[in-house]
Amino acid sequence: MVREELQINGGRLKAILRDSKLDRTIDDSRPNHYDWEIMERVLIIGGGIVGVASAYFLGRSGLHVDLLEREIMLGALTTAASLQAVRAQFSDPANIAFMKESLSFYETFSQQLDLPGHEIDFHQQGYLFVTTEAETAARMRERVEFQHAHGLDDVEFLTYDELHERFPFLAPEALAATFRSRDGWISAHEALLGFQQAARRYQVRFHLKTEALSLLTRGGRVVGVRTTSGDFEADIVILAAGPFAAQLARTAGIDLPLEPVRRHRLVIGSHDHIPLDAPMTIDEDTGAHWRPEGPGAALAWAEPEAPSPPMRHVSPDPQFAFRVMEGVYRLSPFWLDVAESLKRDQVFLHAGQYTVSPDHNPLIGPLPDAPGLWVISGFSGHGIMATPASARLLADLITGRVSLHNNPYAPDRPALTESRAERMVL
Ligand SMILES: Cc1cc2nc3c(=O)[nH]c(=O)nc-3n(C[C@H](O)[C@H](O)[C@H](O)COP(=O)(O)OP(=O)(O)OC[C@H]3O[C@@H](n4cnc5c(N)ncnc54)[C@H](O)[C@@H]3O)c2cc1C
Repeated sequence: MVREELQINGGRLKAILRDSKLDRTIDDSRPNHYDWEIMERVLIIGGGIVGVASAYFLGRSGLHVDLLEREIMLGALTTAASLQAVRAQFSDPANIAFMKESLSFYETFSQQLDLPGHEIDFHQQGYLFVTTEAETAARMRERVEFQHAHGLDDVEFLTYDELHERFPFLAPEALAATFRSRDGWISAHEALLGFQQAARRYQVRFHLKTEALSLLTRGGRVVGVRTTSGDFEADIVILAAGPFAAQLARTAGIDLPLEPVRRHRLVIGSHDHIPLDAPMTIDEDTGAHWRPEGPGAALAWAEPEAPSPPMRHVSPDPQFAFRVMEGVYRLSPFWLDVAESLKRDQVFLHAGQYTVSPDHNPLIGPLPDAPGLWVISGFSGHGIMATPASARLLADLITGRVSLHNNPYAPDRPALTESRAERMVL
């Protein structure tokens, strides 16, 4: 009922929030440095999956939303480079809860957005983390107990016999694994289109071919954006520009602890030797991983690489194709047969950039040193899976439904410089 009330357009939002049951959840202990108002005009920079989903949740909350995207289409940067995989198996309790929320949203996507028949191609074939090391197996067993204790009760710890019975393609050295069958992969493109279609119901305006050049400030407050199509004014500006978020923040004198890092994806068009019913299979000892993709597969491996400036076009390293196939071959020996018989036109190599934060968790919320400026970025390789819960949280923080103090992803959180880092990072 509360949500229905909030669908009414922005002019009445303040009154609705004051008069409705939402009163008890509005944060009254907000910090003095943040000039809290329920704002009405919101400008989102970036039309990747995160920006578009944010536009939907904010539009639905009754705010007037404009979204600026530099390219001629939405979702063409990191979102298009992704492996599109989604999982709830994480090590940090906040991330477990967050990803559970996101995956439930994806499971019921067309109902959530009231888009009958809109398919996001959710393949729930599971995520399988495999090790050959006894010590790691013992740690995995503890991790599963921890995950169960934190509400993720459907992760299984698989011993040697269970593992090889269920996943016969694995090498004999595979010793133990963790598995969650509800994890899997989606079409990020279809998810983005769904959010866009649903956002249009709330009069969200999408401005393509509109590049944000710099943030506009007045009296110490961010009040809009200078773009290639003129100036836009707003009560709140949201940085959803993926790898470009930190560069844009710098135009208002703000340093964000975010660094773009190149990551690759190799797609094999089709091949008879690939078991198409396999889960996302991760070598926990090295990080190399692969999953079926249509009649072929998608492979990735986050090798150590220095941060780079944000890029619109990221050149891949052609040698990656050989390295990643060798990497996944260790646990899935059929990759040797695939590699030996592959033809050039079956192989597609892409690269994009992770936007990495110090603790591998996103930055979502207002920037205390720049009133009027918010950020939703730094997903460190988990942005597709985190999108529904992140965009929902952003809208809830802006409208006061969630207190700024209950935000595990606050951009000024102490954990950024301390030790609450997510350990299950690929
Ligand atoms: C190889 C690879 C594999 C990955 N695999 C996965 C995975 O399996 N699962 C997962 O959850 N995540 C994965 N990720 C991460 C995921 O792709 C990102 O976290 C997610 O796409 C972030 O979405 P975004 O909308 O924040 O950023 P983006 O998709 O980068 O969108 C940002 C948008 O902002 C626009 N923009 C930038 N600057 C400006 C400007 N000045 N003016 C106007 N517009 C601007 C860009 O054009 C772009 O459209 C992967 C990433 C890579 C690189």
